Amino acid sequence: MSSRWQNSKRTPGNVNDGSVEATEEDLKKTYFNEEHGQLGCKHYRRGCKLKANCCGRWFNCRFCHDDASDHTIVRSETKMMLCMHCQTIQDAAQNCSSCKARMAVYYCEACKLWDDDPKKHIYHCDDCGICRIGQGLGRDYFHCKKCNVCMNIQLQDKHKCIERNLECDCPICGEYMFTSTSTVIFMPCGHCIHSRCHEDYIKTSYQCPTCWKSLGDMSVYYSKIDSLLAEQTMPADYANIFSIVLCNDCEVKSETPYHFLYHRCDKCRGYNTKVLETFKRVGTDGQVQVVDNAIASGTTGTVPENNITGGTSVVGGNTGSSSSSSSAAGVGTSSGSNALTAGGPVVNVSVPRSPLMDENASGDMTMVGISGNSAP
Ligand SMILES: [Zn+2]
Ligand SMILES: [Zn+2]
Ligand SMILES: [Zn+2]
Ligand SMILES: [Zn+2]
Ligand SMILES: [Zn+2]
Ligand SMILES: [Zn+2]
Ligand SMILES: [Zn+2]
Ligand SMILES: [Zn+2]
Repeated sequence: MSSRWQNSKRTPGNVNDGSVEATEEDLKKTYFNEEHGQLGCKHYRRGCKLKANCCGRWFNCRFCHDDASDHTIVRSETKMMLCMHCQTIQDAAQNCSSCKARMAVYYCEACKLWDDDPKKHIYHCDDCGICRIGQGLGRDYFHCKKCNVCMNIQLQDKHKCIERNLECDCPICGEYMFTSTSTVIFMPCGHCIHSRCHEDYIKTSYQCPTCWKSLGDMSVYYSKIDSLLAEQTMPADYANIFSIVLCNDCEVKSETPYHFLYHRCDKCRGYNTKVLETFKRVGTDGQVQVVDNAIASGTTGTVPENNITGGTSVVGGNTGSSSSSSSAAGVGTSSGSNALTAGGPVVNVSVPRSPLMDENASGDMTMVGISGNSAP
């Protein structure tokens, strides 16, 4: 593609001088589907070419421009078009001022977007400032001013507003979501993620990758952990060891008996918690000694006495990452009572299957709605 443009004849003064001259090559018709006589390029059906305001060259579309250039086009700055029916260069518009042909069924004056695919529904959202895929505002989408994004209309008055919700990168793949052309979904906590990234993510996790709240009703999963813990008691050495945990779901701190993997929140009885501090109760007066990182991270099977540090160090509550200080591992990851007593590394976890994938919990409840994709 690029060579075609570079090889096309042009007078030296033709680039960057603001002239609207087009080469022979520029004036030629190009097709979206030649067999059906549909003008355009491989990206769009449209009856015109546009003049890139940045470099003064003619292209079928912004993708054609960006593929052939070392810079990206600012589509809204497009001013001129070339009608491929009559080769007239003119101001950008939906219809040719000369031959009156319609360049596309959809034309956005603000985005300078022409799309002649009659099956595609596109609308322009003034608040988003871009065109999005959908029937339109008030039909299948509405714009939430607080979240600053278009959402499907079922979410109106029924979603958690998060300021400028989409103006960030997907927590999984890192693509900027506001202008993403892939579907972005909202999770029950209000955070968003690409639909395709979410699909893979929930195969191995049940927590929102942004705020770590549970993505669904985990009660079945938690009662499995309850029975697991009832069967597998901790070695006697650990009898007086307790952890302070912060619940990712209800955000309450509580105290719970120390365990290698699972720490229950005293308030909501869930296990989506992270260990903030682990301590040992000594003596009858309930005096407390803080235990150091090694034990709480589950990397030692026993508690050597010299790991008791007399109250100075605090076990680091790891914010965010799913390291071993988070007790939210999958069911079945504990390798059984042997591991609990063997004294070696305890957490020998393969990639845990997410409890959301269990028959009792459906991944569907982990999304509450979708946002309007940016129109390509
Ligand atoms: Zn193109
Ligand atoms: Zn024309
Ligand atoms: Zn638009
Ligand atoms: Zn919008
Ligand atoms: Zn909102
Ligand atoms: Zn993503
Ligand atoms: Zn979240
Ligand atoms: Zn809780």
